[in-house]
Amino acid sequence: MSRNKGRVDAGDGAADGRRERLRALAAVDEVLREPAMEDLLARYPRTLVVDAVRAVIDRLRAEIVAGGDQAAEEAGDLAPAALVPWVERLLDAAVTPSLRRVVNATGVVVHTNLGRASLPAPAVAAVVNAASGYTDLEYSLTRGERASRQDHVHDVLCSVTGAEDALVVNNNAAAVLLALAATARGGEVLVARGQLVEIGDGFRIPDILRESGARLVEVGTTNRTYLRDFEAAWTESTRAVLRVHTSNYRIVGFTAEPTLEELALLAHDRDAVLIDDLGSGALADIELFAEEPALAESVAAGCDVVTFSGDKLLGGPQAGVAVGRTAVIEAMRRHPLARALRIDKLDLAALDAVLRLYLDPARAVREIPTLRALSDPLDAVRGRALRLRDLLVRAGVPAERLELVETVARAGAGALPVTEVPSVAVAAAAPAGEADARAGLLRRGEPAVVCRVQEDRLLFDLRAVGDDEVEDLAGAALLALV
Ligand SMILES: *Cc1c(COP(=O)(O)O)cnc(C)c1O
Repeated sequence: MSRNKGRVDAGDGAADGRRERLRALAAVDEVLREPAMEDLLARYPRTLVVDAVRAVIDRLRAEIVAGGDQAAEEAGDLAPAALVPWVERLLDAAVTPSLRRVVNATGVVVHTNLGRASLPAPAVAAVVNAASGYTDLEYSLTRGERASRQDHVHDVLCSVTGAEDALVVNNNAAAVLLALAATARGGEVLVARGQLVEIGDGFRIPDILRESGARLVEVGTTNRTYLRDFEAAWTESTRAVLRVHTSNYRIVGFTAEPTLEELALLAHDRDAVLIDDLGSGALADIELFAEEPALAESVAAGCDVVTFSGDKLLGGPQAGVAVGRTAVIEAMRRHPLARALRIDKLDLAALDAVLRLYLDPARAVREIPTLRALSDPLDAVRGRALRLRDLLVRAGVPAERLELVETVARAGAGALPVTEVPSVAVAAAAPAGEADARAGLLRRGEPAVVCRVQEDRLLFDLRAVGDDEVEDLAGAALLALV
């Protein structure tokens, strides 16, 4: 009985405490009248300030009601003056652009969630140039009249891919959609069953096909598809064959599919087109790309359209590139969707600069961060790891808490899914049970660092970290390790 009573008392006490804290919580007007608010009211529009004050009060009230009181341990924390720093923090955050720089210590080079490829210096300069003033985006300076934005990259694209014609759009998903809409709307498109893939974030080939206005006809079986399967599925309505590079997974073992040459012959024989969605578009001549389908081979095999991403293994900006035969590329250019899917000027400026690096293949590998990260010899990665460890030790992290470990890095973005890229990481021991919390601290740092957590250790993989980022990484990591 007395124990029960005690419990009820405790409950009432908590409710009383809550009521008291709610009464103590400052009102909007009180906070606005604080002398310290004058400065904020001078720096920011009044409506923004009032909204911020209200947001801070609402948050505190919700916390009190929920029974959590970390933010308001003492009644004094709820007084008008105590709320001003929170308001200031909220206002500063509101006017600060949301995208933050991140040091990618995950070992995943083309990390979709971290923005995929970072741009080489000439592309960054091109973006700044195009962004900070007017450009001849759709204007011929020689003729003094309107021109196409495509002109800037058309010739260089044809020359680095060996294709007859080229078109760039917003991303590769858009390039596939446009190719299908321009060639097969209202008709049928044959796709091998094993290639009906989901690329990630809900991009599924069957969905894109439906949106293009074409009907999907599945051909063959998951692991084996023969030319005769395509022949048998062919009807009066067949307009295209779509080959999809199964970028992010592999069917291995008892498999078969017709060659692109065979498919091209079949399609052309019957007045249809062959579309090849390559996904990554590995244009560079680096050893690691050996297992990616070569762009030039698709073009040479007679594909009417070959599409690929600008920001995967090409190492450029977000963009979708379609190269191929003039008749089909021209149909894509004229299609009403082309306007809706067009590339913006900043991405075009970056792509323009990146493609020109490919005119000198050795220079492309040297200067394009994605290619450099993927082709760096292991010793170079180890060199960066040693530098990181030394910087941390010199800053006071006990050497016995740091260890160099061999890791497996990945290309990422669904490219080269089974290729293991050897790498080196600095493993830093965190206090027991704190590794996740420390990783969270790192993510909120400046620059933000995203690393891997393995049991009680933070793993900083140096494969995707640039030489010029090691010092920043050390500075940020230090805060989480002390
Ligand atoms: C990544 C990928 C796409 C989508 O490319 P985005 O540039 O991300 O739009 C389409 N098809 C394949 C095969 C891919 O790998």
